[in-house]
Amino acid sequence: MTPLERALRDRILSEGPITVEAFMAACNDYYYATRDPLGASGDFTTAPEISQMFGELVGACLADCWMRAGKPPDAIYVELGPGRGTLAADALRVMRAARFDPAVHFVETSPVLREAQAAAVPGAIWHDEITSLPDAPMLLVANEFLDALPVRQFVEGAERKVTVAAGGLAFDRDGEIIETSPSRDQAVSQIASRLAASGGAALIIDYGHPKGAPGDTLQAIHAHGFAPVLDRPGEQDLTAHVDFEAVANAVRDAGALATSLVPQGRWLERLGIASRSEALARAQPARADEIDGARSRLCSVDEMGALFKAIAIHSPQWPAPAGFE
Ligand code: SAH
Repeated sequence: MTPLERALRDRILSEGPITVEAFMAACNDYYYATRDPLGASGDFTTAPEISQMFGELVGACLADCWMRAGKPPDAIYVELGPGRGTLAADALRVMRAARFDPAVHFVETSPVLREAQAAAVPGAIWHDEITSLPDAPMLLVANEFLDALPVRQFVEGAERKVTVAAGGLAFDRDGEIIETSPSRDQAVSQIASRLAASGGAALIIDYGHPKGAPGDTLQAIHAHGFAPVLDRPGEQDLTAHVDFEAVANAVRDAGALATSLVPQGRWLERLGIASRSEALARAQPARADEIDGARSRLCSVDEMGALFKAIAIHSPQWPAPAGFE
């Protein structure tokens, strides 16, 4: 039994069943606080860890948006859940080459990942919450961040909970599931309000669906494979698909603009991943196959290209970032 499972069982025995939301929050807090889950030796691999091209195109997209906004000198770069800092390092290299050298602010709760981020991006400033970011125009990125925030689940109007049964953890009910995520709605609303008030744009990339629909999307990943959600609490990554309709609604309610939702593959193609991969392959012919393989993994509809989607949020005074037309 994992240490967190023991703690959760004690909690359930004293307080009664806990919501799926409380379970997911407790598991992910513990999970991210105690390890670097990324890469071959971890549980999952993200787009920036597949290839430098991902962060470079994000950097080019943000630098272009900043230029078209009139190059505000006080604009900052913000990333939510920056993982190992790889995306930020790749994006900043491109932004600095375009003479945009913003202060870097990370929203990250994991001490282990903060250490990796400090090594990748010297001079970054950390925050526990979006609300403590400085009041300035911002260019923000969140890749695979919203999927880690907890969801609530309902079955026929009753909230689904986790209980102790037959010695193990079990769901208290099954049936057709409706998911909501107040934590995500709140995060999106906080970003959108800041963009509306101080200017800027945000890129949100994650897996999910364009419209809200019934269904259980809570899943666990362990050692690069799916695992039962209630197994090994705190030792596997719990995520749920992002409802991008709810994201767009939260953006509008907060007074900012949301672009259309674009499949990741098409977005990266519009930003020029084909010419970037050809240039990289010309510079390093021995790595040409690997570079083309990474492009295909990021863009192909059978791999990350269609399941992952991108949406941008921007202030009404700022232009929409490229690739969403
Ligand atoms: N964006 C990175 C990492 C994705 S994993 C990449 O693409 O590689 C999710 C990231 O979000 C981790 O850095 C994790 O520590 C962070 N995270 C998860 N929940 C969080 C929360 N509630 N507040 C801040 N950071 C969180």
